[in-house]
Amino acid sequence: MTSTAPRLRFAPSPTGYLHVGGARTALFNWLYARHEGGKFLLRIEDTDKARSTDEHTQVILDGLTWLGLDWDEELVFQGARVKRHQETADRLLAEGKAYMDEGAIRFRLPPGEIAWEDAVHGRISFQGADIKDFIILRSDRTPIYNLAVVVDDLDMRITHVLRGDDHISNTPKQIALYQALGAPLPVFGHVPMINGPDGKKLSKRHGATAVGDYQHMGILPAAMRNFLALLGWSPGGDREIMTLDEMIRLFSFAGIQQKAAIFDMTKLEWMNGQYLSMTPAEDLYPLVAPQLAQLGVNGNRDAVLKAIAAVKTRSRTTLDVARQVAARLDAKHVVVDEKAKKEIAKDPAGYKASLEASLAVLKATEWTPEALERTLRALAEQKGVAAGKIFQPIRIALTGGTVSEPVNELLYVVGRDAALRRLEAAARET
Ligand code: GLU
Repeated sequence: MTSTAPRLRFAPSPTGYLHVGGARTALFNWLYARHEGGKFLLRIEDTDKARSTDEHTQVILDGLTWLGLDWDEELVFQGARVKRHQETADRLLAEGKAYMDEGAIRFRLPPGEIAWEDAVHGRISFQGADIKDFIILRSDRTPIYNLAVVVDDLDMRITHVLRGDDHISNTPKQIALYQALGAPLPVFGHVPMINGPDGKKLSKRHGATAVGDYQHMGILPAAMRNFLALLGWSPGGDREIMTLDEMIRLFSFAGIQQKAAIFDMTKLEWMNGQYLSMTPAEDLYPLVAPQLAQLGVNGNRDAVLKAIAAVKTRSRTTLDVARQVAARLDAKHVVVDEKAKKEIAKDPAGYKASLEASLAVLKATEWTPEALERTLRALAEQKGVAAGKIFQPIRIALTGGTVSEPVNELLYVVGRDAALRRLEAAARET
């Protein structure tokens, strides 16, 4: 690798949890660094001692790790670099580029235009006269954000600063500092904000905003990453589901949109469903097993795997998978939903009679998905009804719902004894 390989960073303030917007910014920086064979660095901006906590730092690191966003080199803590910030302020003061103001050091903003070629927005310019001199070191000698960021980015040899649009107004101040220090400018790029479906800035009103909440909700990290990548970036065409390698290969600043992105929970759940279907049951097992245990179900591994394989294509989250697996392994977890209740209520006698007819043939059937299918279809034919008329009461009795995997698979997953017992109980109680 040459010395000109890009160096990017994510610089969260540990004053809260890892927000989806921050995670998205981290992801874009990470994708660009990986695309270019550069470095992705992490700097914890913990200068606000009152609001920064170790717990938040840990949650941010855990969130990045969960998303698979590994960082290069050692973690940098801004709070440990205050001496460098002070030295730099003192140097600017000594050179007459800053002045004392009530014990604080204030930077003297040169007049004239401050402009840059933004990697996302194109040329952006400000008038120095509109920005005014600003404090860089408080009278207690603690640094102000704009000074600390520039000093740290310089020391970390950052070549590209990619961050949220909310930082656009800081950039001219930072550029003025780079120039006063005689340092070359990095490339600046500002990524669009993330809004809720109502077009307002994404907030708790719209639902969960912390990455950890999505993890607990049963979103897969690969799905979350894919979803975040598309918040403000498009690989072109209508490409949506991408492997990590594809994202790395396709990522470019040119694909970053200028307008705000919309966080659409329905789309995230849809995408997670796609990932659940693509993920082998064995790989879902470690995520589903603890959720099952929480539901009080302790099925053996084989039974659980079979059930996961049957339900994962019709699930939105791993929690959803766990609930459906629970219903298949333990009748206590069957919750009869409104649609199912309505269907039974349309013709309770027919529902009961259908279950009884099925029971009679099922008792004499070999318990394999193939034999079960054959037997039930033969029954429908003999009765001169559509196969669905036979399948649906079984589905409702075993799952409490009106949609599931094919009924022969469902019967197979529930198992012979349990299935017959449950169908008998359903027929008896109707
Ligand atoms: N610490 C800043 C924040 O969390 C980010 C600074 C930057 O990326 O330049 O908003």
